Amino acid sequence: MSTESPEMIRLSSPHMSGREMKYVVDAMERNQVFPLGQNVTDFEEALRTYSGTAACSCLSSGTAAIHLALIILGVQPGDEVLCSTFTFVASANPIIYLQARPVFIDSEPSTWNMDPNLLRQAIKERIRKTGKKPKLILVVHLYGMPADMEGIMAISKEFDIPVLEDAAEALGSTYDGHHCGTYGIMGVYSFNGNKIITTSGGGALISSNETLCRQATFLSTQARDPAPHYQHSQIGYNYRMSNICAGIGLGQMEVLTDRITKRREHNTFYRNAFKQTEGITLLTETSQRYHSNYWLTTILINPAETGGVTHEDIRLKLNQYHIETRPLWKPMHLQPIFTPYPSYISGVSETLFNKGLCLPSGSLMTETERQKVADTLLNTINRS
Ligand SMILES: *Cc1c(COP(=O)(O)O)cnc(C)c1O
Repeated sequence: MSTESPEMIRLSSPHMSGREMKYVVDAMERNQVFPLGQNVTDFEEALRTYSGTAACSCLSSGTAAIHLALIILGVQPGDEVLCSTFTFVASANPIIYLQARPVFIDSEPSTWNMDPNLLRQAIKERIRKTGKKPKLILVVHLYGMPADMEGIMAISKEFDIPVLEDAAEALGSTYDGHHCGTYGIMGVYSFNGNKIITTSGGGALISSNETLCRQATFLSTQARDPAPHYQHSQIGYNYRMSNICAGIGLGQMEVLTDRITKRREHNTFYRNAFKQTEGITLLTETSQRYHSNYWLTTILINPAETGGVTHEDIRLKLNQYHIETRPLWKPMHLQPIFTPYPSYISGVSETLFNKGLCLPSGSLMTETERQKVADTLLNTINRS
């Protein structure tokens, strides 16, 4: 265990329901302690039904899911992949695994996700500069907030470039009533320990095209040809989800709706708590079309309105009170590793990064704890 105080209020902790154990024990009793088995099959079916799509392949991580999706969608060395700059690094790393080139697209201020106007501009300029169409649009639904999928899909259609959705943080979020991850040709989920539900570590690809998911499963199990001996005509990976992890996932699926309700409740609480205070704004659904799981509640602090108190002052103060907060993701175009790659930037994501914080939002957090978070934050501002 860490040396930090045990009563630290965390950003997002795993939250078991108690129903996971029966699936895990069942796998052990059947001796299905490997990356195949009934739990994996059932978890795929549960995710498929939940998201309302045709097929699902469960994998060892969200990162593995993105990697396999890029391979299946034909991304080759030197190809350009248009990727949200405002994201966690796992969205972009698999592009590099394939020796392809990320082209980073800045955010729009309302959803904080990929700006469709910049996306169009980027596509036109990439075609003009390289003589080649970018291979793929990799759009991220950050912090659970859906991207402007009408705008993104219209551009995808206009230029005939497929969309891969990184919905790692957006399981259960919807746009126009359809789940994030179901707009593009494929969608990615993550079940890492900090996500809305967890399998300790894991991920999934979903698609309306069953063939694509079958390919993902094939590649994730070392690409074995259908032969009694071990024969391979393609390079494979060991990316399949284990049957034990899938058992945890099945138990978690039973409470997914409750988990989303709880996180949305936290979001509403913070919204009310900060309503009267100048200089705090929250990432907000801009219309009925957007339904966020509010995986994390995120705020922006404007020091011009808080008497000079910055997001960093708040982070440090809350940390003293054993409350974990975190700056927003540092945009990829500002990451040392990605500076050689092209980017189409309006400054929105950099501004968000310079002002923003994620607040404790886990479904395990109590009402007393979230009150402490709000009170401590407001005291930090009001005492200045
Ligand atoms: C968590 C996350 C991933 C990666 O998922 P893992 O299961 O941790 O590999 C990818 N993209 C985003 C936006 C994430 O938050």
